Amino acid sequence: MVVEMHAGLASDGGSKLKMLLTFVDALPTGNEEGIYYAIDLGGTNFRALRVEVGSGSVVTSRKVELPIPEELTKGTIEELFNFVAIALKDFVEREDGKDEKRALGFTFSFPVRQTSVSSGSLIRWTKGFSIENAVGKDVAQCLNEALAMSGLNVRVTALVNDTVGTLALGHYHDEDTVAAVIIGAGTNACYIERTDAIIKCQGLLTNSGGMVVNMEWGNFWSSHLPRTPYDISLDDETQNRNDQGFEKMISGIYLGEIARLVLHRMALESDVFGDAADNLSTPFTLSTPLLAAIREDDSPDLSEVRRILQEHLKIPDTPLKTRRLVVKVCDIVTRRAARLAAAGIVGILKKLGRDGSGVASSGRTRGQPRRSVVAIEGGLYQGYPVFREYLDEALVEILGEEVARTVALRVTEDGSGVGAALLAAVYSSNR
Ligand code: ADP
Ligand code: MG
Repeated sequence: MVVEMHAGLASDGGSKLKMLLTFVDALPTGNEEGIYYAIDLGGTNFRALRVEVGSGSVVTSRKVELPIPEELTKGTIEELFNFVAIALKDFVEREDGKDEKRALGFTFSFPVRQTSVSSGSLIRWTKGFSIENAVGKDVAQCLNEALAMSGLNVRVTALVNDTVGTLALGHYHDEDTVAAVIIGAGTNACYIERTDAIIKCQGLLTNSGGMVVNMEWGNFWSSHLPRTPYDISLDDETQNRNDQGFEKMISGIYLGEIARLVLHRMALESDVFGDAADNLSTPFTLSTPLLAAIREDDSPDLSEVRRILQEHLKIPDTPLKTRRLVVKVCDIVTRRAARLAAAGIVGILKKLGRDGSGVASSGRTRGQPRRSVVAIEGGLYQGYPVFREYLDEALVEILGEEVARTVALRVTEDGSGVGAALLAAVYSSNR
């Protein structure tokens, strides 16, 4: 991971890790004031938030959450953003009236080539979205056009990735926050890099001497990553083949499907599922929340596992022994994902000289551990305790207990959205 981070910082296209510039060189300090809106678009749900900031505190006064209709993820960008603009308009009109002028933080969690903190073009879609006419377009401008058409007086002042929003809120609460990780529908991370280490952008100057880099780590790949036949089958089923390899081993859209592929092969090659093999042949019938429920069933007879197999996979009457096997498969898929995410986090800490290995660029050595906070959010991480346990366990295993004690993972509730609102505040008042 560290090698690829260096390569991605050295040149565009130098690594599968894009290491994207965000133009975020200042994080919220606590002095921000006012009312801001944020929208969070980038996975399963669309969220709009109204955020009140002042006197060192930030509160989400209201929020709405709507599922994104499946057909809008495959249509045109105008259709998608009209949906967003109408939802935001309803929300703003209810909260502040329709003429209110407000700054908007736009969290758009897909890889974007930023041209400033408030503009940038979509590089490509991930997480099952495929709206062809959007690729290469300035998504902030497209959204501003949709907002103007809807008659709203709200404009984008910060276009950010969800990781960057999460980092902003994390840093607002705790200045030791150096990185942010998302483990939800997809997975990604960002961290604060020194501008002189961003070699591909020579002469980049910021007041702080640093800039947040969006790693797009979902696309990480390495020959050191063991890939199973199930990973290959999964990749074949997706619209973004050969991309997002790390994400496909870790995140919520994919874990249930990996487990289904394993169970399907077991059904084909043995008689553990009786003659129900066909019922396991439909892609994406085992969601990740179901995989989690299977793993977390602590009833003595695994009755929840029985119910899920019956209702969702149409496999009736499994003996206890078979249900135990299913739990084990879900456990293995979960554990691998959590450990890979932990390894990625250690990669960032290592790049920052905060993994306790004593080669910190700051010249600090062992014995002077600095506290490092990693802001983290996402439905998979927050909703699945076993995943969190495995992730923590792997961090301790890789870092050692002493160093692991200096690393705190901190959940930032709605950070991706609230953080974007805070950045809208930073970048509409200061410049
Ligand atoms: P996004 O912001 O990208 O829409 P979220 O952070 O809300 O995504 O996470 C949603 C994902 O988290 C879902 O795709 C689902 O797979 C996963 N998820 C949600 N709840 C749970 C749970 N209880 N157990 C395991 N995974 C979950
Ligand atoms: Mg999200």
